[in-house]
Amino acid sequence: MDMLTIGAFAKACRLSPKALRLYDELELLRPARVDPDTGYRYYTAAQLERARLVAWLRRLGMPLARIREVCDLHSGDPAAAAAEIRAHWARVEAETAVRRDLAAFLVDHLSTPSREDTAMLELRYAARSDRGLVRPANQDAAYAGRRLLAVADGYGPRGEGASDAAVRALAALDTAEAPAGGVLELLEDAVREATRAVREAAGPQKAGAEAGTTLTAMLWTGSALALAHIGDSRAYVLRDGALFRITQDHTVVQSLLDEGRLTPEEAESHPQRLLLLRSLSGTGEPVPDLRLHEARPGDRYLLCSDGLPTAVPDDRVRQLLTDAASPDEAVRALTDAANAAGGPDNVSCVVADVVRPTA
Ligand code: MN
Repeated sequence: MDMLTIGAFAKACRLSPKALRLYDELELLRPARVDPDTGYRYYTAAQLERARLVAWLRRLGMPLARIREVCDLHSGDPAAAAAEIRAHWARVEAETAVRRDLAAFLVDHLSTPSREDTAMLELRYAARSDRGLVRPANQDAAYAGRRLLAVADGYGPRGEGASDAAVRALAALDTAEAPAGGVLELLEDAVREATRAVREAAGPQKAGAEAGTTLTAMLWTGSALALAHIGDSRAYVLRDGALFRITQDHTVVQSLLDEGRLTPEEAESHPQRLLLLRSLSGTGEPVPDLRLHEARPGDRYLLCSDGLPTAVPDDRVRQLLTDAASPDEAVRALTDAANAAGGPDNVSCVVADVVRPTA
């Protein structure tokens, strides 16, 4: 068999000899032969295809460990390798979308010297939590105040205590003075505090019977809302008649959807539909999504536990939110609709309007 020197092989596949030596060490691309005396590496022409694939995937920014998986799949099942690349790219796009929002907010924030107009805004709010018609207890907790909005959905043997503890830990933010800056850091610290409180409330954890809670909270700055989110409770905004969801569910199924491994139809009936990928629990260090959301006068925000979307379709939620004259009317209409649909789960809703102060 014709052997190529590392230099010739490098030229043919557009990888540097230095990169080739690294990929050999990582077992990503082993040379066909290593001279026992000189240590020189030799490759065959048949290895060029794999080497070129590695070079392309590097250009895509794929981590080396992932590249090895794709290459190994590629030799036996090219379609599976293609699916891996699609999944990788979907994840990159999802991560980029989060950073794009943050960048847009910062650009706007820094290029508007005076925010007198929006700094005058206030929240009008209401919260309602209901046991529903099936569950024996209400393990949800909901809170709405001048500055803090929060929904938590507890699970496990002491789920009620867990959701209560999380919301109570955050409620301290409601009475504190408005922060001059660093609102996301403030919220992040509060979530850490809430985690400690949940851990205490959940007590000693038995394997397979852990208690914990979701948490979706927004902190008002006077012109923006800082959002902390972990689990499958949700936040929406009704703006100009359209309803936008501003959180991603941290469920196993949502992550499969994001990576294109599951279609929305398959997701509906997936056995792990409700399995949480992330939450505040008695074990592990939870990682919440954190972001700033710029508010506009006329915005109506909705925070809810999964008991609402599992019972009431988005279209109906939008209609009820649009029709309600006040936040109080909205939370009543939404929880009533969930119960009219059988009330399969605890349901909690927090609604807040962004308004110019009247007095
Ligand atoms: Mn629930």
